[in-house]
Amino acid sequence: MSRVAYVNGQYVPHGQATVHIEDRGFQFSDGVYEVWSVFDGRMADFDGHMTRLHRSMDELRIPAPMSRESLTRVLHETVRRNRVNEGLVYIQVTRGAARRDHPFPPEGTPPTLVITARSLPLSKGNASAAKGVAIVTHPDIRWGRCDIKTVGLLPNVLAKQAAKEKGAAEAWMVDDMGLVTEGSSTNAWIVDKDGKLRTRDAQSNILRGITRAAVIKLVEAEGLELEERAFTVDEVKTAREAFYTSASGYVMPAVSIDGVVIGDGKPGPIATKLRSKYLDQARRDAI
Ligand code: PMP
Repeated sequence: MSRVAYVNGQYVPHGQATVHIEDRGFQFSDGVYEVWSVFDGRMADFDGHMTRLHRSMDELRIPAPMSRESLTRVLHETVRRNRVNEGLVYIQVTRGAARRDHPFPPEGTPPTLVITARSLPLSKGNASAAKGVAIVTHPDIRWGRCDIKTVGLLPNVLAKQAAKEKGAAEAWMVDDMGLVTEGSSTNAWIVDKDGKLRTRDAQSNILRGITRAAVIKLVEAEGLELEERAFTVDEVKTAREAFYTSASGYVMPAVSIDGVVIGDGKPGPIATKLRSKYLDQARRDAI
């Protein structure tokens, strides 16, 4: 029996069902999902899952792709077309497809809606239940591996969107201790009140920025003092300069944080010099 998937308004053969390569689910994990179990072709705990789906969408401000009534009809139809008697229905809603950029896409970008259904005979689970199953323990690292450049970028997306809504270019994320970790898509730096360059050490669960590493080399070549040590938000507010580094922004001077002016409110001399040195070197050494 051939399976059928529902994708953005159409029922398509499962093997040919696709979403766009710039779908935000694919590029940012910017989406939500639900799963219902199916008994006798009917979905169990229907309202609970439907309500949680809407809560998840509301929390992320993803617009509902259609009314609850229409969604219910499509879910039933997907179960029916796949002739699922006992099994599962899966629904995924993402913030849609748009040119890759961390903030939310333009208003009106339609969310992506995918629904699949498959059979899973109850007898399989019953056999396991009769014997009992084994479990193991595993560290809960959800998500403590910011050193990996994964596409699991939803927290970064929400941080960048918050920055955008406050008229800022970037959000610096702050840990439980009040220390700046890194930007939503950049590494964070200051020239502290004593004139020392500071950036958080790369072992402590941040992305090891390639631009950060290149700028550290430039800093050393310039004979500037650098400490790879985290700083607080207050230290940013009293710093002489602040800036961030990334492959897309190079070295970007920052002049305020949470509305508080940094230094004299103009791009600092060290950041400006490092930007120019970095751009010279990057252009020269590019292959
Ligand atoms: N931190 C995060 C979270 C990033 O996504 C990025 C890159 N976009 C950076 C730092 C900067 O890394 P790179 O200099 O390698 O671009």
